[in-house]
Amino acid sequence: MDFKEMIRVIPDFPQPGISFKDITTLLKDGEMYRRAIDALKERVAHLKIDVIAGPEARGFVIGAPLAYALGVGFVPIRKSGKLPYETIEAGYDLEYGKDSLAVHTDSVLPGQNVLIADDLLATGGTISTAVNLVRQLGGNVVGAAFLIELELLEGRKKLPDVEVVSLLSYE
Ligand code: AMP
Repeated sequence: MDFKEMIRVIPDFPQPGISFKDITTLLKDGEMYRRAIDALKERVAHLKIDVIAGPEARGFVIGAPLAYALGVGFVPIRKSGKLPYETIEAGYDLEYGKDSLAVHTDSVLPGQNVLIADDLLATGGTISTAVNLVRQLGGNVVGAAFLIELELLEGRKKLPDVEVVSLLSYE
């Protein structure tokens, strides 16, 4: 079974025109979930990573096990209002809708090498916001890792100076 067969594609969710890539069908299969994380681990093995940062919620599902596998820390990037300590925040546009993300001011130390992880790269709005937040804290973004990349949306172009790794791509 390959990874793509494990992804359920739902047309017109959450709104007409969006082809939603549902990763829950992959996540619930223990062997495939582990193989996906292991494959991402191999793809980022050449990077010197101190910490992985992932945006809520599906960035946690990819970023946290990847951090565990690499033996590095995990930093949650959350929707505004959820983190209890002092934060910095940034707003951004989504493929569908708008949002804003926040991170604790002491979560990434100046000079640390940070990999950003999420389930899917679409327009790149989410990930470039995460990159900006990490950079504001003085972190050095060494890469961005995704399970899925929607190539036609050209999210990579928003990350010209970041090494982008994805396991699966869709047009
Ligand atoms: P973007 O900021 O446009 O790159 O969108 C990326 C974020 O939105 C990711 O965290 C995804 O979980 C979610 N997302 C955007 N488009 C889709 C899609 N077609 N299918 C599933 N998730 C999506």
